[in-house]
Formats: sequence, C-alpha cells, structure tokens
Amino acid sequence: MEKRISVAIDGPSGAGKSTLARKVAAELDFLYVDTGAIYRTVALYCYRAGIDRSDGEAIAARLPEIHPELFYGEDGLQHMLLNGEDVTEEIRQPELSLYTSAVSAIPAVRAFLLDLQRDLAKKHSVVMDGRDIGTVVLPQAEVKMFLTAAPEARAERRWKELREKGSAVPYEEVLADVILRDENDKNRPIAPLRQAEDAVLVDTTNYDLEESLQLLLNAIRERM
Ligand code: C5P
Repeated sequence: MEKRISVAIDGPSGAGKSTLARKVAAELDFLYVDTGAIYRTVALYCYRAGIDRSDGEAIAARLPEIHPELFYGEDGLQHMLLNGEDVTEEIRQPELSLYTSAVSAIPAVRAFLLDLQRDLAKKHSVVMDGRDIGTVVLPQAEVKMFLTAAPEARAERRWKELREKGSAVPYEEVLADVILRDENDKNRPIAPLRQAEDAVLVDTTNYDLEESLQLLLNAIRERM
C-alpha cells in the first residue's frame, strides 16, 4: 500500500490556518481536513437543541444521536453533513464560534471525534488543521506546523472577512472574541491548544497570504 503522509497544522483561530492548509493540500495533492468544521457540526446540533454550552453531561448524552460526515464537493471543498443535512454554511455563523469552543472542551466530545479524524489520515494523505492534531490526533504526523499571529492581526483579518460578508460587527468585539476563544482553547484540561515539541512555528503577523504560503510550503518540503 502506498504510504500515507500526514501534515498537521495547529494554531489559534484566525491565524489563517484553513485558507493556508487548503492551499498547501492543493499544492501537495493531499486531502484537506478542517477539523474545526467537524466540531462546529457537533456543536450546531446541541445549539439547535437548546442545550446550555456548559452542560457537559447533557451534551455527552446526545452524542449517539449526532452523525457528522465529511464529503468533498465538485469544487473540491470540504462540506459537512449533520445527520444527512448539509450544514456547511450554517456552521459558519459567528454565534456558533464561542459555543463550539465550549462544546469542544468536553472530553466526551473529543473522544467521540478522535476515530473519525484518525480514519481519514489512515485512508488518505492529509493536511489536517485544528488545535490538537500534532499533539493528540496524529502524534506520528510526518510534518507538524504551528501557525500563529498576534491576536490583533487575527482579529483584523476576521473583522475584514465579516465586513465583506455585510456584517457590521465592531472590531473590538471581534478582538474580544478571538482573545476569549484563545483562552478557552489554551486552558482546557483536555487537548489544549499548544505547540507540539516537534512542530515548526510559523508566525504570520507580518506576512500576507502568499508569503505565509511560501513559508509553510518551504518548511514542509524540507521535512518531507
Ligand atoms: O477552527 P475553528 O475556529 O472553526 O474551530 C472552532 C472551535 O472548535 C475552536 O475555537 C476550538 O475550540 C474547537 N476546535 C478544537 N479542536 C480542533 C478544531 C477546533 O477544539 N481540532
């Protein structure tokens, strides 16, 4: 069997992970897996059911009812199905971000999604982006990158994106959301956001997308 290669890209929200990971995957002809979208899909189910995001027991009890699936459209993009319904767009609603951050801190939720993520890496060469891919999900990944940028730079990118979509949310609110999510993701007891010891740190604060992509590709090719 052909050897599968895994590239793990972790880092805080808004560091440009998904855009860059998608481009890296296209460049290497690997499957791109956005694990945040999988967590968002599970969170959406609980959100719709009106469950309090801090109620770990209630959320854990509902997991058997939740079937998140990935598929790749003709556009090559990752779509998410929640019990058969395409929720690719809906999981991007800003109200879901903090809710997802809370849901993904629940140990049962992380355990629930572990095999799904590992199976993808068993079957395909992948570029997988998330928070704990290099540390927990794929500790054997051939290449590990930790992508970051200053909170202000990440908030500004996110704010511009939202503005382009017609949202009038103030920059300060986006920054506060970025900082709060960082805190939640870094301080949770299970699978916290942290750089794996053998991961390469890439800070994109002062680089645009194209420069960041080249930095990432160079670092990956050096290791492959
Ligand atoms: O990547 P994205 O911002 O869409 O992820 C939403 C939330 O899901 C993150 O804030 C984080 O709390 C959680 N997440 C996680 N582990 C992953 C990917 C995402 O805990 N591997």
